[in-house]
Amino acid sequence: MKAVAIKKGQTRERRPAFKEMGALRCDGCGEEFIVFHAPASVDRAVAERQARWLEKVLAEEHERERKHPDRIQLPD
Ligand SMILES: [Zn+2]
Repeated sequence: MKAVAIKKGQTRERRPAFKEMGALRCDGCGEEFIVFHAPASVDRAVAERQARWLEKVLAEEHERERKHPDRIQLPD
């Protein structure tokens, strides 16, 4: 696993070496997710792409009336 988004408040679960790449707030409920990258995979452009992907995933979960998981694995 190279990249993961973790719900704010649940980040104690993260792997200590992972770097915090930024936060994304869900438009639907205001919950915040922090994007983390593995040390060897730190890439700001990838993190921005993943944030846009995550935005869509979170919106879809609202459409389907599903709860957000505490951690979401991000595509490379
Ligand atoms: Zn939401």
